[in-house]
Amino acid sequence: MSQAGEQGTLFVISAPSGAGKTSLVAEMLREDAGLGVSVSHTTRPMRDGEKDGVNYHFVSRDEFEAMIARGDFLEHADVFGNYYGTSQVWVRERLASGRDVILEIDWQGAAQVRRLMPECVSIFIVPPSAAILRERLVGRGTDAAEVIERRLSEAEEECRHAVEFDYLVVNDEFSVALGDLLAIARSRRLRMPVQQVRYAQLLDGLCDRG
Ligand code: GDP
Ligand code: ADP
Ligand code: 5GP
Repeated sequence: MSQAGEQGTLFVISAPSGAGKTSLVAEMLREDAGLGVSVSHTTRPMRDGEKDGVNYHFVSRDEFEAMIARGDFLEHADVFGNYYGTSQVWVRERLASGRDVILEIDWQGAAQVRRLMPECVSIFIVPPSAAILRERLVGRGTDAAEVIERRLSEAEEECRHAVEFDYLVVNDEFSVALGDLLAIARSRRLRMPVQQVRYAQLLDGLCDRG
C-alpha cells in the first residue's frame, strides 16, 4: 500500500475505563501485523507493571504543558484529572507511509481527531453491563477504590457519546469482541480505492483478456 501512496487508516477507539479496550487492542496488534498503536503521553502516575515508552510516555505536568505550547499533540484532553495526549508526528508519519494506526483515547480526544481527520474510523467499546464494568475495574487490581469510583461515575458521561462513533462493539465474550474489531480493520482494507491500487495489475490483466 505504501508504494501506491495510499494513506493508512486511522482507527480511534474509545470506551469507559475497564471496558477492555487495552486488552482488546493488545490482541488486535498480535493478530494483525498491519496495525500499530500510538503510545500516548500522560501525566498520570505509572501503575505497577507499566513501562515508560511502552504503555505511555510518562511526563510531568510541566513537560506536558510545554508540549502543548509547541503544538506537539494531535489532540490532548484532561481525563480523570490527568493530561493525556497523542503525538502528532508519529501518527502523521505512520499514516503517510500507508500503515494503519490505532488511537486508544477518550471521547473528548476522539471528537478533536474526528474534526481534524474526518476520514478516521471511530469505534466505541462497551461492557455488557454497568455491574460487569465495576467487576472488571475491581478485578484488574490496578486502581485504588476512590479512583475506581471516579472512573465509574465518568463512565456514564463517556457512554453518552457512544452514538458519535461509527461502530459499536460490545465486549461481553472477549473473542467475539476481538473478532468484531478485526473485521472492522479488515473491511477497511477491502474497500475499492485501496484494493484498486493494490491489485492494479491484476485488474488490468483481467480486463485486457480480449
Ligand atoms: P484505562 O482506560 O483504565 O486503561 O485507564 P488509563 O489511565 O490508561 O486511561 C484513562 C483514559 O484516558 C481512557 O479513557 C483513555 O482512553 C484516555 N486516554 C489515553 N490516552 C489518551 C490520549 O492520548 N488522548 C486522550 N484524549 N485520551 C487518552
Ligand atoms: P480498559 O483499557 O478499557 O480500561 P482493560 O483492557 O484494562 O480495560 O480491561 C479491564 C479488565 O477487564 C482487565 O482485567 C481485563 O483482563 C478484563 N477484561 C477485558 N475484557 C474482558 C472480557 N471480555 N471478559 C472478562 N474480562 C475482561
Ligand atoms: P521520541 O523520543 O523520538 O519521540 O520517541 C521514541 C520512540 O517512542 C519512537 O521510536 C516512537 O516509536 C515512540 N513514540 C514517541 N512518541 C510516540 C507516540 O505518540 N506514539 C507512539 N506510538 N510512539 C511514540
